[in-house]
Order: sequence, then structure tokens, then C-alpha cells
Amino acid sequence: MSAEREAIDFDVLFVGGGPASLAGAIKLMHLAKEKNLSLEVALIEKGAEIGSHAVSGAVLNPVALKELIPDYMEKTCPIETTVNDDEFYFLSKKGAYKLPLKPRYLHNKGYYIISLSKFTRWLGGIAENLGVNIFPGFDGKEVLYADDGKTIVGIRTGDKGLGKDGEPRENFEPGIDLMAKVTVFGEGARGSLIKDVEQKLQIASGKMPQVYETGIKEVIQLSKDNYFTTSKGNDIHVFGYPLGLGTPGGGFIYEMKDDKIAIGYLTALSYEDPRIDPFELFIEFKKHPFVAKIISGGKVIEQGARTVPTGGYFSIPELAADGALFIGAGAAMHNTPALKGIHVSMKSGMLAAEAIVNAIEKDSLSKDTLGYYQELFEKSWLRKEIYEGRNFSQALVKKGVMKFIHLGAQYFTKGRGIFDQMPLEE
Ligand SMILES: Cc1cc2nc3c(=O)[nH]c(=O)nc-3n(C[C@H](O)[C@H](O)[C@H](O)COP(=O)(O)OP(=O)(O)OC[C@H]3O[C@@H](n4cnc5c(N)ncnc54)[C@H](O)[C@@H]3O)c2cc1C
Repeated sequence: MSAEREAIDFDVLFVGGGPASLAGAIKLMHLAKEKNLSLEVALIEKGAEIGSHAVSGAVLNPVALKELIPDYMEKTCPIETTVNDDEFYFLSKKGAYKLPLKPRYLHNKGYYIISLSKFTRWLGGIAENLGVNIFPGFDGKEVLYADDGKTIVGIRTGDKGLGKDGEPRENFEPGIDLMAKVTVFGEGARGSLIKDVEQKLQIASGKMPQVYETGIKEVIQLSKDNYFTTSKGNDIHVFGYPLGLGTPGGGFIYEMKDDKIAIGYLTALSYEDPRIDPFELFIEFKKHPFVAKIISGGKVIEQGARTVPTGGYFSIPELAADGALFIGAGAAMHNTPALKGIHVSMKSGMLAAEAIVNAIEKDSLSKDTLGYYQELFEKSWLRKEIYEGRNFSQALVKKGVMKFIHLGAQYFTKGRGIFDQMPLEE
């Protein structure tokens, strides 16, 4: 039994193996090759393997994928199916009313339905082939700072072989110090390390506090003869029952390959009634006659729950620190009106990669130089997309008719609404 703590040096370390980090790592390797730079790049994922912590079944806007891997089809990207058409319903306690018009953000026709776990595994394989050192089963436990207290120099992974009492067992191995010139935090929503950085370096100071929804998702195996055999749309969104219109949230059902579906329900954590239980709401949603008919006879084969950061543009923290960058859902990269975070997270990782190469070429890894990522963000379609939803979550928490007045005004003014920047609470 060795209690020696090992330290390994990298040029760039990605923390988290979600779409943000994986796209960032792939882009970084592409750029390094183009510029003839030799970089040691590592990526750690706390799940047992890449994709094991991803909640499956999602609609992917392929814009970032097309930029990153234009020949994704030849590279056998695991696409379940393509969205044929969208269906948008209001549910009352017993009825389902199909709305003739869908908000433009939910026009998913032509987008892909993917299993996020298969998709991230596929991205992981590509990253590995490009030379990224991927370490699954390693969780970042602590951020390592230089003596100046503000430069991030890497992370420490968790100890292995601790007993339930927290004491070392025979197989104890102390965590490893993964040292990096640039550490990229891609931990997803509510990352524990980025929270530490927020507290120490105040990167979220003056920003709108982040707000969250809890999403519960299942993959269900249906019989051969199912709703989607005859329906026009294979991408269904609903609102109304069981949550009602007061608290933000709603449900979705997406068709997947081989007669499977992804079904899920999101509940904003801003709910005021303490008796609300997001899992109970999910069950009620599944029992609704419209939904029960679709899933009738099906067998649940996967289940998971995650939080989604829905605050949007005004909740985005500073994107760079000395020696570090923040990407993906952990950095509030989410298109809340469109209910999508994968493509925006991927793009944020890709922009971070550009900023890293620029900083390495300039031989400066300061916040100022790495802050080029912020500049790239401001100029990209990513900012434009997230900016349009900048007041959306603030409007969603309004009560009664005011909610719809705000949402309507925002819809017709590209997000500006009745007043810009709308505060979260009155
Ligand atoms: C119910 C639900 C439905 C959704 N549907 C869609 C959809 O249809 N379309 C869409 O575009 N988006 C959807 N999203 C959002 C989308 O999943 C996220 O926006 C996206 O996955 C964010 O990517 P990310 O890489 O930033 O983070 P994540 O995908 O969360 O990945 C972060 C990874 O980092 C790992 N990790 C975290 N902390 C550490 C640590 N300290 N050390 C090591 N590893 C760590 C985690 O295990 C995880 O694998 C949905 C989300 C939910 C919850």
C-alpha cells in the first residue's frame, strides 16, 4: 500500500466527459494538428465510462456537430432517427389538445434524435483516436491553485479505497494531482469544482443567480406496433397537466430506434408548493390518458435524472480565469426556450479550444489571454442563440396572464420583451 501522491503534467486537462469537453478536446486536437503543435491533452470522467452518466434520448440540433466533424455520417455517428415533425400539446387532466402553432424554438424537424450516452461514447472514441488521454472512473475532487491563490494549476482526483467510515482500506490509493497549463471545467450543471472556483474567484459575481429544472427521463421499449408507427410527428412536447401553468416545466416524448422512446418530465426548482415532487409528477404524466396510450405495454429499460440550468445569458459566469476556462452546462450554456443544451455546450468547448491554442501560441495562459474565449463567444452564433432567450426563464416564473404577456412580447421582439434585462423576481 503506497500513500505517495502521484502528480502528472498535461498541457490541457478537461474535467468531465460530456459533449462540451469531448467537443472541446476534439477541436483542440484538430487545431493542434493544423498548427503543428504537440499537446498532451487529458480528459477525466467520474462515470465508469464515457456516456455512463449521460441521460439518454435527446434531440440534437446538429449545427455544432457539422462544424466539428463534417463527415459525421461516414464516421457512423450513432443517430437514432431524424425528427419528421414536432407535435405540441396542452394537457388538461384527461384531455390532450394539439396546438396548431408551435413556438419557433421548438421546430425540430430535420434534427436528430440521439442517445446521449451512445453519442458521447462515439465522441470519446474520436477524441481518443486523435490522441486525447481519456481517464474514466476519475472524479475531480479539488481545484488546485498556485501560491497566488488565483491561478488554477490543475485538479486533485478523489482518493480510492476508502471505507464507508472514510478511513483508508488496504487497497487505498490517494488521489492524483493532475497538473495542467489550462484546466477546462466541463462538469455539467451544478459542478462541484466550478462552485469552488465561483467562491474563490467570484466568477459569477454580479450575474443573475442560476435557476434549475430537474429532469427525469426514461427509455421505454415499446412493441412493434406503437404510436409512432402511424403518427406524423416523432418529437412530442407537452405542457399543462400535471404541473399546471404556475411552475415552469413540461414533458416530452421522442421516438428512438428499434421501437424505443425517450420520455421525460422537467420541473423547475422554483416551485412554491413544498409538496411538489418531480418524480411523482413524472409518474402522473405517464398516467395521463394521452401518454399512457403511447407507452402502453412498454418496458422501462433506462432511467435517470439530471438538473438543467435554465437561467440563460445573464447567468453566464466569467468564462476564463488564470489557467482555466469554463464550458458547457456548468457555464450556463443552455438554450432554455428550445430545451437544448447539447449543441451549445459542444460549441462552447470548441470556442474554448480556439482560445487555448491562441494562448499557447502567445505563451501566456493568463485570464486576459484565455479571455479570448469570451470574445469568440460574443461573436459566435452561440451567443446570438442564447441571447435570444435571455429573459425567458424570468418570464416563466411569472404568474397568471403576466407570464403569457411577457413570453408573447419576447417572442415577437427576439427576446427583448417588455423590459430588458428582466429581473428574476420582482
Ligand atoms: C431530462 C433532460 C432532457 C434533456 N434533453 C435535451 C435535448 O433533447 N436536447 C439537448 O440539446 N439537450 C438536452 N438536455 C440538456 C443536455 O443534456 C445538456 O445541456 C448537456 O448534456 C450539457 O453538456 P455538458 O458536457 O456541459 O455536461 P454533461 O452532459 O452533464 O456532462 C458532464 C460530465 O462531467 C462528469 N463530471 C461532472 N463533474 C465531474 C468531476 N468533478 N470530475 C469528473 N467528471 C465529472 C459527469 O459525470 C458528466 O458525464 C436535457 C437535459 C435533461 C436533464
